[in-house]
Amino acid sequence: MAKDTPSMAKNKMRRCLAAIIDPHPSGAEVEELWNYFQSSCAYCGIPLARASRTGHLDHIESSALGGSNEIHNHLLSCSRCNGDEKREEDWQSFMAKKVTDIELAAERHAHISVWIGRAGREPLDPSAKAQAEIIISQALESFDEAVKKLRALRP
Ligand SMILES: [Zn+2]
Repeated sequence: MAKDTPSMAKNKMRRCLAAIIDPHPSGAEVEELWNYFQSSCAYCGIPLARASRTGHLDHIESSALGGSNEIHNHLLSCSRCNGDEKREEDWQSFMAKKVTDIELAAERHAHISVWIGRAGREPLDPSAKAQAEIIISQALESFDEAVKKLRALRP
């Protein structure tokens, strides 16, 4: 097992604090996603087994670009489409490249659009989001400060 390091704790702390304001999908929501996509990849249609780790929750709008953790900002994807091929590409252009059958691509496109349109939770107000980022960075600065002070106490 890896040792707990301040940098691991700091990353964990950042994720935990961010999840207070932008929670990750609940088990019931993940279940709803699997059902909606009928246990298959939203892009290529390959069947996925829930028990295995073959199904990925792919962010539609990536967190780096401000996408939330709301369940409707995710779709079900196989590891190949999500990890190896799509990467940071937007889902529409990825779908167009992945599925060459135009009718099938249109059908999957529509299915995903309906899912996105169901957005449950209210999007976070930008000023609350900006405040949250400040609060989180202050907490992380305090943590860094504590690490520094503790290191200074070592013999
Ligand atoms: Zn796929």
